[in-house]
Amino acid sequence: MGFPEVSKGLLDSVKGLSFEESLKYIVSLLYPDINRVFDIHNVFLCVQPHPDDCDLGAGGTIASLTSRGFDVYYLTVTDGRLGTTDKSVYPEFLASIRRREQAEAAKLLGVKSIYWLDFRDAELSDTLSVRSRIITYIRKLKPSVVLAPDPYAPYEAHSDHIVTGRATLEALILSGLPHVNDVDIREGLEAFTPRFAALYYTSNPNVFRDVGETINVKIEALLKHESQFKDRALVEFIVSVYAALYGKLAKLDYAEGFKVIPVELLHVTPFLDKI
Ligand SMILES: [Zn+2]
Repeated sequence: MGFPEVSKGLLDSVKGLSFEESLKYIVSLLYPDINRVFDIHNVFLCVQPHPDDCDLGAGGTIASLTSRGFDVYYLTVTDGRLGTTDKSVYPEFLASIRRREQAEAAKLLGVKSIYWLDFRDAELSDTLSVRSRIITYIRKLKPSVVLAPDPYAPYEAHSDHIVTGRATLEALILSGLPHVNDVDIREGLEAFTPRFAALYYTSNPNVFRDVGETINVKIEALLKHESQFKDRALVEFIVSVYAALYGKLAKLDYAEGFKVIPVELLHVTPFLDKI
């Protein structure tokens, strides 16, 4: 059976469905496991603009992944040197403190290793230099699922977040092409394409994880970032409110939400915002 017959069969089966129902039906047909990406894959790379973003955006999910024996790696893009309102703290000193804090938080969540790109905090402006570095780590670690902040979250003002998200998505569609960053290949790495992007801090989630059992360890992990979060009550409030709101969408008490997109759709595919 050729494509015209397949297409006709598909189009016949979505007759009578609304646009959104049709789209969801087609995606579920092509990617029946899209809702189970956190269950059926076992190597995850979480890319974060600053030390603490993976913990805040996905810490409950990460704790549940590592407790099941899956490998989770962090890749931190900037050094976080500017994250203070205290003018007496030297930026270089703060960067070193944040490195230690992130190590302690990630240990609590069971993260296997943390890698640092050490771009200067609050100065990310182009995706090219960042994406090249991310591609190298994708080829080294071979993750099936790569997490990053959603660069298309409306009203996200921090360009470190937007650039990190966009650079990660670009890296995902290019890491399988051996002539991209060919220095990696000359150094013995292989071109490699992960299966899915999972975007955190998203206002458009399509996959949810129940974090009822891991919300407490997520809070404890965030409190390891003492330079950022000094007030336990405030951290508990922020984490529970976000988890409760994602939970409302998921019909759970506490959830984290992700926009999960198959990597092969991350280019010239319209309507991804609606899947
Ligand atoms: Zn951040």
